[in-house]
Amino acid sequence: MEPSKARICAEVDTLARDLYAVSEFLYHNPEIGYQEFKACEFLSRFMAEHGFKAEKGTGGVQTAFLARPAQRPQGRPCVAFLAEYDALPGVGHGCGHNLIAAASLGAALALSRHLNGLTGTLALVGTPAEEGGGGKILLAEAGIFSEMDAAMMCHPSRLNRPGEEMFGRVKFKVEFFGQASHASVSPDRGVNALDAMVAAYNNISMLRQQVRPDARIHGIITHGGDAPNIIPQYTAGLFYVRAATRKYRDEVYQKVEKCMEAAAVATGAAYKIEIGQPTFDPIKRNPPLETAARANMEALGISVDPDDGRRGSSDIGNLSFYLPAIHPSTAIVDPEVPGHSKIFAEATMSPRGKDALLKAAKFLAMTGYDYLTSADLRERVREAFEQKE
Ligand SMILES: [Zn+2]
Repeated sequence: MEPSKARICAEVDTLARDLYAVSEFLYHNPEIGYQEFKACEFLSRFMAEHGFKAEKGTGGVQTAFLARPAQRPQGRPCVAFLAEYDALPGVGHGCGHNLIAAASLGAALALSRHLNGLTGTLALVGTPAEEGGGGKILLAEAGIFSEMDAAMMCHPSRLNRPGEEMFGRVKFKVEFFGQASHASVSPDRGVNALDAMVAAYNNISMLRQQVRPDARIHGIITHGGDAPNIIPQYTAGLFYVRAATRKYRDEVYQKVEKCMEAAAVATGAAYKIEIGQPTFDPIKRNPPLETAARANMEALGISVDPDDGRRGSSDIGNLSFYLPAIHPSTAIVDPEVPGHSKIFAEATMSPRGKDALLKAAKFLAMTGYDYLTSADLRERVREAFEQKE
């Protein structure tokens, strides 16, 4: 490993106790999306105490923050480390965002102490509400990333990967409106909104066989009727449509809409669809930046796993269309352990979780260092970013 990178890694090691404390604080104080007041306060204060200028409420998003090295003039190129810190209802940090925040803080601090002689700078962006709220999208729309050139973070996972595919996602609510009637005396006078919902659900089930493997459609019925002796006059459901490209996501969504329409026609019910915000884009991957991250992971002795084909969605997808962005992962559990679970939350506090935290902080800082020191890498990252989807 080259000496400057070795010094950056040693810097992360000196910060280890502080970074564990950050992760632990978040673990014990889980807050759901856009409610992360304690986390935002704690993390921005931590950065201020470590030589950064930290501002809360960035981009008009109350629980977002932006921290920059206080002694360094703003400039380009600028590498952004992203800190997520929202939790999940019921399972706390079942997605391990406490480790994401701590690793990005560590990377920002370690690299900031070794910027002398380099052009450019770095920033730490606190991005709330990844779990469905899309904080990164609001920050990008507010222009926060317009003075930054590349963004990175590391997500704890079941795999060590320098990047991963993600689905774009549309979520929507559907409602069917029928006519209530006595289910025994006058069923012929009713219009059955539950039949409409069941037909819609079955239409989707059939559609699933005719879509590409890189699409997912799933949903729930949130209101199925009021009493068995009343023909249901109102039903409602929530559905997600996901696919690996924006184009295919929208194509599949159009077909799902037809499933709703057909169900309404067949039963005589009326229907209404309300698309939920935000819509997530799939991630636009950046191979040169991922390759740099991969080399740094391997230099730390992390063995990179093959892609297992399992995919989710994240607001970093939308962000990756604003600027080059990567979303590597480090394993803190075995592959069979499900994410969004209590076991996963506990794993963030385990020795394996702590080790992954430090390694993530290190390879993120190293990759940021590569980006700031190599004009050639920056050029290749830019070229990859400008390629069409
Ligand atoms: Zn997550």
